[in-house]
Amino acid sequence: VALCEAEEAAPTRSRPYAGEARFNWKLFWQFLRPHLLVLGAAIVLALGAALVNVQIPLLLGQLVEIVAKYTRDHVGSFLTESRHLSIHLLILYGVQGLLTFGYLVLLSRIGERMAVDMRRALFSNLLQQDIAFFDALKTGQLVSRLTTDVQEFKSSFKLVISQGLRSCTQVAGCLVSLSMLSPRLTLLLMVATPTLMGVGTLMGSALRKLSRQCQEQVARATGVADEALGNVRTVRAFAMEHREEERYGAELEESRCKAEELGRGIALFQGLSNIAFNCMVLGTLFIGGSLVAGQQLTGGDLMSFLVASQTVQRSMANLSILFGQVVRGLSAGARVFEYMTLRPCIPPSGGCRVPQEHLRGAVAFHDVCFSYPCRPGFQVLQDFTLTLPPGKIVALVGQSGGGKTTVASLLERFYDPTAGVVTLDGRDLRTLDPSWLRGHVIGFISQEPVLFGTTIMENIRFGKPGATDEEVYAAAQEANAHEFITSFPEGYNTIVGERGATLSGGQKQRLAIARALIKQPAVLILDEATSALDSESERVVQEALDRASAGRTVLVIAHRLSTVRGAHHIVVMAHGRVCEVGTHEELLTKGGLYAELIRRQALDAPAPDVPG
Ligand code: ADP
Ligand code: MG
Repeated sequence: VALCEAEEAAPTRSRPYAGEARFNWKLFWQFLRPHLLVLGAAIVLALGAALVNVQIPLLLGQLVEIVAKYTRDHVGSFLTESRHLSIHLLILYGVQGLLTFGYLVLLSRIGERMAVDMRRALFSNLLQQDIAFFDALKTGQLVSRLTTDVQEFKSSFKLVISQGLRSCTQVAGCLVSLSMLSPRLTLLLMVATPTLMGVGTLMGSALRKLSRQCQEQVARATGVADEALGNVRTVRAFAMEHREEERYGAELEESRCKAEELGRGIALFQGLSNIAFNCMVLGTLFIGGSLVAGQQLTGGDLMSFLVASQTVQRSMANLSILFGQVVRGLSAGARVFEYMTLRPCIPPSGGCRVPQEHLRGAVAFHDVCFSYPCRPGFQVLQDFTLTLPPGKIVALVGQSGGGKTTVASLLERFYDPTAGVVTLDGRDLRTLDPSWLRGHVIGFISQEPVLFGTTIMENIRFGKPGATDEEVYAAAQEANAHEFITSFPEGYNTIVGERGATLSGGQKQRLAIARALIKQPAVLILDEATSALDSESERVVQEALDRASAGRTVLVIAHRLSTVRGAHHIVVMAHGRVCEVGTHEELLTKGGLYAELIRRQALDAPAPDVPG
């Protein structure tokens, strides 16, 4: 036991989470390694298909030669003479098709499996990140790393292997057969093609930049729609549909302009490259034709040359497109891998646990200073000292924005204090296992309970994954929830809507209480648990909370002071410090801040029982 106290926890660092990431080849290798065998097979098949592709122009040329002979002479049987070659070609076509089928199947198998592994690894690592990480980043961005970026990376990977391999082999193979057919023509081709490719690449990179801007703009527009649809109640409540429409419309308009610009660029590129390609064909025919006329080349060879040079050009164009895809894939991969290796400052588990029978549930804050990592200059807590005696109810009151929720977050160890320590039974929280702390010691009930879009049963069981049905019923009874649950036709199997949208505030809160109680926490935090409720639900919820509080260490956070009267101690905080401690009566007679708050709330409260 004494061992844990000796360990000094690492200080909290503030970390920039944004920034351009580099592609992590080592990590990529780890994902690729299990598929190396299949990948090898795919590469062999792809190479085979490419080599067959190189053969085809040569045979076509020979066939044309036979055709040409018959156009001149008209003797003998064309069919018998060409049959052998045609069959050979047909076989090659078949083999080529089979090989293509094979490597595409293998590649998609590798790609999909890698994508699943990557998504799983990324999701699991994201879930382990510090709360500060999520403060700094939008969930939309994280979700898009799981979806779009993995998708992009996967398709780039598949394309690079299939197209890249094929194009490279075809370029090499066809260049060999070209130079065997006619070295002079090949030389000409070697001069013309790279020049055109250079121009094409320049245009291509401009287009890629445009396309990136386009994607970013689309993402911005999606963000606007996402926000509006996700918060539709607020939008409706403020009758802001029109403004949201306009905002979305403006972003769409912007992205339309960008996309049209991109479309024009692509059209220009296509038009120009068509002209270039056609000119190349004409040029080859023209120069090749004069070679044929001078008896330096046969017509069939010229035909082979044409087909092969077309293959080379198509392959090289492919390669330049592929280059852009590689760049995009690498940056998508970098984004995927970036958060896969990020280690949280507060690991979700690991550290010591206190055996259940020794756990008393005494909590203390010693001179705690704290500022949020995303707002380092702003001190929320300053030399904050607070003791929660075991089994007692302590209320924390103070102005909104005074740092009460922050105190609860520190106790949950969502963050570590910048200075000072928080202890549980005298032990630094940083030496304890966070998963044990959150899963078994602390029950947290907040103002806005969040439920998941599954059954009531599963939502309550979220507090204790292995709980039996009986435990769930007992927790629901303790939370005053059993009655309303059983009044639903589906009972405990009722699906609560997404984020619990199909339940009333009071019902949601009681489910949240049941979910917290099922783990039998030694310490209970109630952060304004009833302040969002109407007075009728508040009464039922408060009843449940009072029952749950018995025998536990409880931290009640409230700004409605009527709810804290019964607490053993009331702590008043202002400007991140404790400024008064005492019972309700003590503080009232003292006539300090608490008395002032009470007086003000009495004034603010609407007079009851006065109609109209
Ligand atoms: P209370 O619960 O007493 O109303 P909070 O603890 O929620 O107050 O907030 C205290 C201060 O910390 C506020 O000024 C608030 O703006 C700031 N704050 C709260 N949460 C965060 C956060 N995640 N990141 C940065 N600042 C925060
Ligand atoms: Mg709060």
